[in-house]
Amino acid sequence: MPTHLNILVVGAGIAGLATATALHRRGMTVDVIERSLSPRSTGAGLFLTGNSVRALTALGLQERLTASGAPVPSQRLQDHRGRVLAEIKMADLWRGTADCVGITRADLHSALHDVLPVPVRHGVTLQSLKQSGDGVEVEFNDALTGRYDVVVGADGIRSGLRALVDPAADTRYVGQVCWRFLTDDKAGIDRWTVWLGRGTAFLAYPVGQGRLCCYVDISAPSPKDPTDGTADLSRFFSGFDPRVRDLLATPAGREAYFAPVEEVSGRTWTAGRVVLVGDAAHASSPNMAQGVAMAVEDAHVLAETLATAGDTADLLRQYAQRRLPRTTWVQRQTHQRDRTRSMLPAVRTFVLRHGAERLWERATAPLRELP
Ligand SMILES: Cc1cc2nc3c(=O)[nH]c(=O)nc-3n(C[C@H](O)[C@H](O)[C@H](O)COP(=O)(O)OP(=O)(O)OC[C@H]3O[C@@H](n4cnc5c(N)ncnc54)[C@H](O)[C@@H]3O)c2cc1C
Repeated sequence: MPTHLNILVVGAGIAGLATATALHRRGMTVDVIERSLSPRSTGAGLFLTGNSVRALTALGLQERLTASGAPVPSQRLQDHRGRVLAEIKMADLWRGTADCVGITRADLHSALHDVLPVPVRHGVTLQSLKQSGDGVEVEFNDALTGRYDVVVGADGIRSGLRALVDPAADTRYVGQVCWRFLTDDKAGIDRWTVWLGRGTAFLAYPVGQGRLCCYVDISAPSPKDPTDGTADLSRFFSGFDPRVRDLLATPAGREAYFAPVEEVSGRTWTAGRVVLVGDAAHASSPNMAQGVAMAVEDAHVLAETLATAGDTADLLRQYAQRRLPRTTWVQRQTHQRDRTRSMLPAVRTFVLRHGAERLWERATAPLRELP
């Protein structure tokens, strides 16, 4: 007999939308609440690696990814002047999974909303949550109440539910601040392309319909915006390839979104019948581009696990035990990438020229396996 559970998903980001869809497909009843008043239509872009595209394809998104996004055939690593250090072919690196794609956040959110079989209740948050032996009673901020078998915290890196599940877990600043923006591709960039400086990096990749996503990061001792909100980044990129300076000088470049780069330190994802998915559980630096993959894989594994027979709280713990080694691996690889990135430029040039393919292969191999 398939298990039928009544589940509340808190948060309609990538993790929440994917989890609600995967649970519904396994025969669960799902409610989704989201504190923002409307579906997300802002943000820059996402590089979707082979395992992300595989997980999204299993939700039925492949056509949308192809129609809205752009293929990303390789990752080109360069020094600050644009001299190529390594070119890593995605078809080799992600063999056996799927082709890599660049897409805007807005397009991915819209595609996920379109496959979601239930409406999202926008403008709604949790007011209170009380666990009893066989369920969770909640009150919403609109005075409605509910009783659920499971509550899923898909509420992002600043998760309120994480504080309840693992009060010791916290966000950790990883020593870089970043900006990102979308702009028209006047530079002819048809692959993931990075320029590496000393404590600075500029990345651009296609996201479909002639647009590029640009991502800038800078090593900084404090998570505060060193430009005081002006996004005047040119002073960090003097001496770089003129294409970088031109992209930074576009109107979009001058209004880039700022954020400190942070990760989540916790290793406990469940408390009774409350469980975490996505960034709420395991946010990592984006330097491995694994956030979407980990969120959507969480969704599939949680849905698969809850559809089996057993005590619900035990099944939630089984989900966490199955996922933790993989998300821990990703976080460790992001630390490794940061160490490589912060080498002296001459040393880094040598390491990447002679070892990038090996390093990338080692970091990726376990992620090609099914979760
Ligand atoms: C700069 C940057 C670049 C990145 N680039 C990439 C990339 O190229 N490729 C990649 O795979 N990943 C990338 N990532 C990671 C990726 O963006 C995240 O892993 C992914 O978006 C996580 O989704 P999520 O649904 O867990 O969290 P979120 O997207 O944060 O969604 C959480 C949702 O919960 C809602 N919410 C919060 N609290 C409540 C509440 N109390 N009640 C109701 N709703 C609530 C929020 O409004 C939000 O909609 C990047 C991350 C950053 C910061």
